[in-house]
Amino acid sequence: MSEKEMELLTKGSGEAEQPFRYSVGRWGSKFLIELRDHKKLLGIRCPKCQKVYVPPRQVCSPCFQRMEELVELSDKGTLMAFTIIRFSFIDPETGITRPVPYGYGFIKLDGCDNSFQHFINIEDESKVKIGARVQAVFSEERKGNLMDIKYFEMIDD
Ligand SMILES: [Zn+2]
Repeated sequence: MSEKEMELLTKGSGEAEQPFRYSVGRWGSKFLIELRDHKKLLGIRCPKCQKVYVPPRQVCSPCFQRMEELVELSDKGTLMAFTIIRFSFIDPETGITRPVPYGYGFIKLDGCDNSFQHFINIEDESKVKIGARVQAVFSEERKGNLMDIKYFEMIDD
């Protein structure tokens, strides 16, 4: 087979914007409003197993119980897992290349049973360790989305 026969062509179909909105629901709204207006993190407690989840959701997945009890959580927690991203890529949420390096972690907030995923500050990488204590740093201008938490920073606690 000649090289010309193996040539594969691709064609672009242009660019299209597809803006969309969706409801974050009853508990999602409460969570984001409290975060935006009072820099507070809300969780929700299961009436059966007593587990607390963040962000709040309607149903406890292990016991299928409907949850109604919102609880205020600490803005401090423990870093359970993390990664440091060093290769740039196009952020699907913004469509632009995110500057690297940056950190992303699973944080177990105090008083909560599940982990919360967010950016972590890696300014001093020597402090970024599994089990490190972290604290939320809130954005100055909050808009009612998860980026109202700028990132979690390592703290001596
Ligand atoms: Zn439960």
